[in-house]
This record gives sequence, structure tokens and C-alpha cells, in this order.
Amino acid sequence: MSDDTTIFEQIIAGEIPSYTVYEDETTYAFLDANPLAPGHTLVIPKHPYERLNDMPADEAGEIFGIISDIAPAVEAAVGADASTVAVNNGEEAGQEVPHVHWHIIPRFADDNVGPIHRLFDGAELADDEMEEIAADIRSNQ
Ligand code: 5GP
Repeated sequence: MSDDTTIFEQIIAGEIPSYTVYEDETTYAFLDANPLAPGHTLVIPKHPYERLNDMPADEAGEIFGIISDIAPAVEAAVGADASTVAVNNGEEAGQEVPHVHWHIIPRFADDNVGPIHRLFDGAELADDEMEEIAADIRSNQ
């Protein structure tokens, strides 16, 4: 494999062992080696897209369908009350492995973590700024 192969490609190839929880032709899911909670699972496309932005929409839709099946299974396996499903989409967002992956992190009523909103201070925006941003997002699709 080339030098820019990520650790996740080595996991898919079986060169690095992992606790597999799901596999099909295009998708692989396995337990995170440094779990934030018991059952913390990573779901990845086998094709090494770096970011969500690089995935064709049909493949992103397909993998999200699989995630919607795996998340309840992860919760059930560890008796979780809920789960946080998240992507660190790009280096500045905290992505360390440059192969897009969804985290499924089991959540418990007493885990004292709170919502992902706790990560941010919040941004105060006027109505005209909100409208301008919404228009820019619409025109960039
Ligand atoms: P990121 O910060 O890129 O969103 O998350 C990368 C995740 O990959 C981390 O939670 C980290 O614990 C996990 N990870 C990194 N290397 C390995 C590995 O070799 N095996 C497994 N199972 N998980 C890994």
C-alpha cells in the first residue's frame, strides 16, 4: 500500500486487527480503539474518501442508512439510553484520521456529557446576516 494509506485502510484490509461489527461490499464498522464510552463504534466507507464533502451523495445516503441500523444495535448491546452520532468533518473540526468516519457514541442518562452544543460558545447573528448566510448556502449546493 502507498505511504498515504490511512490506518483505516489497513484495518479494512485486515492488516491491523479490529473488532468488526458490520461489513458489506462498501461499508465497514468496528469498535473505536480509544472508546469514549463502551460500544463506541466507527462506520466508514471502504473507499478512502477524506471528508464527507468528497463522498458522492448516493454513497453518503447509503452509508447513513446503514448507520441508522447500527446505532440502535450499538445502544442495545451496551444498554445505552441514546447515542451521539457525529462526524469530525475536516482537520479544523478535529478529524485526525483523513478517511471519513461516523462516530456512534453510546450515551447514558448519567454520563454528564451533555449535547454537542457544549463544544461551542455560540454565535450571535442579526436577521440580515442569517438571511445572507442561508442564501449563500442555497447558492453553493
Ligand atoms: P477522529 O478524531 O479522526 O474523528 O477520530 C479518529 C478515531 O479513530 C479516534 O476516535 C481513534 O480512537 C480511532 N482510531 C485511531 N486509530 C485506530 C485504530 O488503529 N483502531 C481503531 N479501532 N480505532 C482507531
